[in-house]
Parts: sequence; C-alpha cells; structure tokens
Amino acid sequence: MTPPASPRKRVLLAAPRGYCAGVDRAVVTVEKALELYGPPVYVRKEIVHNKHVVTTLEKRGAIFVDETQQVPEGATVVFSAHGVAPVVHEEARSLGLKTIDATCPLVTKVHREAVRFATHDYDILLIGHEGHEEVVGTSGEAPEHITLVEGPDDVDHITVRDPEKVVWLSQTTLSVDETMETVRRLRERFPAMQDPPSDDICYATQNRQLAVKQMAKDCDLMIVVGSRNSSNSVRLVEVALEHGARAGHLVDYADEIDPTWLDDVEVVGVTSGASVPEVLVRGVLDFLAGRGYDEVTPVIAAEESLTFSLPNEIRRDLKARG
Ligand code: SF4
Repeated sequence: MTPPASPRKRVLLAAPRGYCAGVDRAVVTVEKALELYGPPVYVRKEIVHNKHVVTTLEKRGAIFVDETQQVPEGATVVFSAHGVAPVVHEEARSLGLKTIDATCPLVTKVHREAVRFATHDYDILLIGHEGHEEVVGTSGEAPEHITLVEGPDDVDHITVRDPEKVVWLSQTTLSVDETMETVRRLRERFPAMQDPPSDDICYATQNRQLAVKQMAKDCDLMIVVGSRNSSNSVRLVEVALEHGARAGHLVDYADEIDPTWLDDVEVVGVTSGASVPEVLVRGVLDFLAGRGYDEVTPVIAAEESLTFSLPNEIRRDLKARG
C-alpha cells in the first residue's frame, strides 16, 4: 500500500508588510537626532509601537518618557509618529525644550481635518480606540467638538447637537471592514453625516490588511510579527481570522512561537505590522525553515513607494552641519 503523502509545508509571505513611510521617518528622526545632538535624546512615548525598535534606540542613547514634564529643561525631545495634542507643544515651549515633531504626515492630515471641521462648528465623530496615543492627540485638537466612537456598538449612544452638521473621522490604523460597519451604522442614525475629505485609514494599514485577506483562507496558521500595543498589528491577526485563517498569533520575536502551533499545519502565513523591522520577520522565517517550512511564496497585494522627508528641524540641522 502507498503511504499517505506527507504534507507540503510552506510559507505564504505577505507583501507589503513591515515598515511604512511614517514609521521609517520617525525611527530615522531619532537616529539622526542622536547623531546630530548626541545622547541623550528624549522621546515622548514610544516613537513607534514596537518593542525591538524602542530597545534598540534606548541602547543608542534615546530616553523614552511618558510626559513632557519628565524631560529636563532645555533638552531635546522628539514627539512620536502617533502625534500629540496642541497642549503638549505648549508644555514643551514653556519648559524651553527643543522639539522635533516626528508625527506621521498622515496623522497630521487627520489633525488638520479635525481643526477645519471644528472651526466650522461640526460635531466630529472620531472612530478609534480610547486611550490610543493617536486618538488622544487628534481629540486634543478640538476636544469640545470631538466624540469618540469605538465601534458599531457605540453608535446607539452617540448624541450630536445638529444632525445636519456631523462628520466622521478615524484613527489611521483601524480595521477597514469594522470601520465601514461603524460608518454604516452612524449613517443610519445621521443620514446627512459627511465623509472625511480623503481616507483617514492610511495606505499602509489598508495594504497590509489587503494582503492578509488575500492569503488568509489558504493558511492553517497566520503569524503576525508585531507588538501588542501596535494597533495595526493587532488588527492583522483579527483580519486573518475573519478571512479564514484557522489560527492566528501575534509575536514580537521568533522565540515566542510555540512549536505546538505548528502541529498538523501545512501552510503558515507570515506578515508584520507597520512598525516592525524586517530583521524580525527574517527571524520568524528562519525559525520556520528550521522546522521544514523552507518554501516561501510571496503574496503581493500592492506596491508601495511612498516616502516622507524628515522633519524640518532635522533637515535644517543636517544642512547646517554640511
Ligand atoms: Fe503613518 Fe500609516 Fe505608518 Fe501610521 S501606519 S505611521 S499613519 S503611514
């Protein structure tokens, strides 16, 4: 009798994955600040939500703080990619700090939308996660005009002053599908609600979710490389499970993979959040190759070529240095 064929172990590797333009800019900003001004360089909050990035920059002399008041007078402080409320800029000014703003330009765009609609006296329904730094920063632009909507279940409890003057905006790193469901429910309640002038969920979040959607149904297991406080990474696990992956896990490093996850697994999907350096994905691929998953097929959902120039302060000081 012919023995049953052994499973063909393989990996589907999502593209795009990993660093987006905003994360790359923020990390390079801290690296350049360390080069230009020497350590320590203070960074308010995690520059991006990735454990490896933060510990690597700490070793080079970055000091991460939670609040501006923890930065010594006159020191240099970098604001993270997630953005800050205007009050944080004011605090830094009053403490005489040299500030470098590494807010992602796509987050700044949402701040500007909030300011513009608030100036025209709209009620702004901001879809996002309570307490996330980006939401705190955006809300701080117009606290009296912004109401947070965490998801479809929140919609019934929302009140507005004038249903004819309502707009929705969103955090940049949400699940596209869940956000659209929240918008659908909001529109049922407020039919005149306006849409944002352009997508607030950023290109990087959308593309990484698209790649996962394309491959999820073929995966027995999806491994997403990313940190637990990374909104877009957590969303990738959810999207994978919603679109047919039989299991999904988030790991910071390859050594967090429990070998039992691979029991009876033929196809492993691999991707990474927008704040994850590629070296960590390589670690996962090496781990898998060591267990027989050495055939890797890319699943390409989109090409990305966007880059952002460094913050003005860094460009100016780099130029002055020659
Ligand atoms: Fe900017 Fe999107 Fe990257 Fe966030 S995930 S830093 S909004 S490009």
